Amino acid sequence: MSDPKTDSQTVAVIGGGLGGVILAIGLLHRGIPIHIYQAGKGFAEIGAGVSIGPNAVRALRLNTPHLLEAFNKHVTCNADAPTSFLAFRRGIPSPDHDQDDDLYFDLTNEETAPNWTASPARMAVHRARFLDEIVKLIPADSVSFSKSLVDIVETDNSVTLSFADGTSASCGAVIGCDGVRSATRRYVHGPDAGPTFSGEYAYRALVPSDVFQTVMGAERTMNGQLYIGHGATVVTYPVEHGASINMVGIRTKPGSEWTHPSWLMPTTLQDLEADFAGWDKRLLDMLAKYGTNSKWALFHYMHDKPYYKGRVCLLGDSAHATTPNLGAGAGQAMEDAHVLAGLLGARPPKTGKDIEAVFKAYDAVRRPRSQESIRLSGLCGRTYSFQEDGVGDDFGKMKSVLADRLRWLLDEDLEVHFEKAKRLLLKEGGEVVGETGVAKVQEVQKSGKGIALGFWRAGLRRLSKLLSRRET
Ligand SMILES: Cc1cc2nc3c(=O)[nH]c(=O)nc-3n(C[C@H](O)[C@H](O)[C@H](O)COP(=O)(O)OP(=O)(O)OC[C@H]3O[C@@H](n4cnc5c(N)ncnc54)[C@H](O)[C@@H]3O)c2cc1C
Repeated sequence: MSDPKTDSQTVAVIGGGLGGVILAIGLLHRGIPIHIYQAGKGFAEIGAGVSIGPNAVRALRLNTPHLLEAFNKHVTCNADAPTSFLAFRRGIPSPDHDQDDDLYFDLTNEETAPNWTASPARMAVHRARFLDEIVKLIPADSVSFSKSLVDIVETDNSVTLSFADGTSASCGAVIGCDGVRSATRRYVHGPDAGPTFSGEYAYRALVPSDVFQTVMGAERTMNGQLYIGHGATVVTYPVEHGASINMVGIRTKPGSEWTHPSWLMPTTLQDLEADFAGWDKRLLDMLAKYGTNSKWALFHYMHDKPYYKGRVCLLGDSAHATTPNLGAGAGQAMEDAHVLAGLLGARPPKTGKDIEAVFKAYDAVRRPRSQESIRLSGLCGRTYSFQEDGVGDDFGKMKSVLADRLRWLLDEDLEVHFEKAKRLLLKEGGEVVGETGVAKVQEVQKSGKGIALGFWRAGLRRLSKLLSRRET
């Protein structure tokens, strides 16, 4: 049985998470026919926050301005957005310290993204709300739900996809955006390739901000905080314009194994207390009360294999799943989508050779950067939990290595990055059409006025209004 909606001109996007949907919107914007095959019955993201750096926002805007508009509707920034990035605080209270006087050090925007201070360095969205917003840009007849990819067969002219429900479809090229447990990856990298357990697992919670503010005070409610201590870390930041606070508690046990059959394991209060023994009880109480009663095994996929084979390519977690310590995974998927959609727009796929040339150029620029982000994220996990060699609990060194890594991530000039990929594509021979579909950059470096200034001010106004209403 074949799916009538697709043909050999269509680019099949496997997976409808943030990476797949953002890529599909970028391709549609460039007039490239797409079809999304999503395993679930609908588009769905878990209801939690995701932090988005200025690099990722640039990738959204350069991909298509519609994505930036959608992001602007849902972005929440630190209340002290003009300067503040993240405050690093004591996670394990000590009798020698007042619990309210627990600041180890601050990282500022200037220290983390010095060349792009026109936008705040720290922004976040509620995943499900943002996804709901952007799927409005996808025509209903460009998506098939309950289509779980199981197999791929390539011929000279097209690719045939088989799904778990027994149906099949053909297309001109395939982009696997099917996440950390990708089926597309099995075709590209072979059945034995896959992510490995990072030695970390996460507890997640979404806390109403009035509750959070009563417990932790206004400043910590309105601004991103990272509580650090031996063996673990807890991050908190506002989402939904300050209506709720996203919390992620990560236990870091380098070299340990994950033995539970599923990556999501039910937990009890005792498990949480054992993993965060001695930690600030205020944080643990909220993680327990507003959490999911489960812990998530964190896997990463570090490798040196090309992100494509023939007409089949990987994007997002399927290519480079990472731990969340650097807050980079979704942002790297957004950067991937910008580069891949831009290149396919520059050379609309006609022959298999054209498609492969695009994938080769994409791989050449995206693999080094996204793989490096995995390495740095792993290192950050160790830094936060005082386990990094040569750093330990020396806060001066800690601040310095973290600022370096964040600058590497957040300060990237994505126009230069894309131009590099385009030059590589030209070297492969063939034409690159003049209009690449890349929006003209309006964001400016340093203190100039850019698009981003407008949206953090709007976000800040909403957040302040919300909190002042609660105070009165
Ligand atoms: C605890 C935690 C916190 C995080 N925090 C951050 C953060 O603050 N900032 C950040 O940038 N990143 C963060 N990340 C990483 C980020 O969530 C991921 O990198 C990002 O969601 C990956 O998007 P994706 O589209 O590649 O994959 P996914 O979001 O996993 O989407 C994959 C989609 O493919 C579908 N699918 C799967 N298999 C098939 C199949 N066989 N056929 C068809 N469809 C299929 C799934 O249903 C799903 O919709 C965090 C991750 C975790 C676990």
